[in-house]
Amino acid sequence: MEVQPNKIAIICMDARMNRIADSINDGRTIFVRTAAANPPGVINTLNSLTEKNSISSIFYMPHNDCGACKFTHAIMSKGEGSTQEIEKGLISTIRSYSKNNYSNICRSPDDLSIKLQELGINFIQHHYPTMAVSSRMADTSYQVTGEKRMILSRPSSMKYSEMCSQLELPYDSTYVSQHTNLIESLCDIQLSSSALHITNFTVAIIDDSERQKIEDEVAVIRDALKHVPQIDISIEEVNTTAEREKIR
Ligand SMILES: [Zn+2]
Repeated sequence: MEVQPNKIAIICMDARMNRIADSINDGRTIFVRTAAANPPGVINTLNSLTEKNSISSIFYMPHNDCGACKFTHAIMSKGEGSTQEIEKGLISTIRSYSKNNYSNICRSPDDLSIKLQELGINFIQHHYPTMAVSSRMADTSYQVTGEKRMILSRPSSMKYSEMCSQLELPYDSTYVSQHTNLIESLCDIQLSSSALHITNFTVAIIDDSERQKIEDEVAVIRDALKHVPQIDISIEEVNTTAEREKIR
C-alpha cells in the first residue's frame, strides 16, 4: 500500500537546507521550498496541499545566515523596493508588519530571520488552527561552495539527494523552489538570479501526468523573464522510488 503524506515541511530554498531536509524526510512529509521559507509566500501551495491530503501537522524551518533575509534586510534598511513578485512572495510580510519602523525592529539579517519566524508561526496557526505547528531555526553558518544551480518542482516527498543525483546537479549547491504552481516560483527565480547570479534552472517533472500543465507554466515564466536573456530553463523528468518500483 502506498504511504499517505500527513505532514508538510516549509523550508528555505537555500542549498544548505538540502541535507537538513533529507535528514528529516520520513517518507510521509511533503516538502515545500521557497525564499526564507516565508509561509505567506506559499499560501496557495499550502491551501492546495491541505485540500488534497490528510495533513495534520506543519513544520516550518527557516535558518540563520539566510541569503533571502540578507537581500530583504538591505532593501528594507535603504527604504527601497523590489520586483512585484519578490515584494509579494517575500518582502511584503515584513513590510506590512514593520510599517516605517524597520530599523528599530531588525538590526541584522539574522534579526529578520527571527522576526519572520515569529510572523510565520502566527500566520500558519491563524490559517490552520486545527494543525499541529512546530518550527526550528536551522544553523547554516558556512558558505555554499561550488556552482549554484536551482531546481523548480512541485512539492514532493522525494529526497534532494535522489533528485540531484538523477538530474546530475550538485547536492550541496543546488537551490530548490517548490510550489504547486511553478509561476509562484518567480519570486525565488528572480531572487536567485539577481542576488545569487544563478542562470541555470532545471524544472523537474516528478509526475508525468502533470507534464502539459508544467510546460504551460514554464512558458509563462520564460515570458516573464524574457528581459533577462542569460537565464536558461530546461525541463527534465525524475522518478521517485515508488515509480521506479512500479516500472520494475
Ligand atoms: Zn534562506
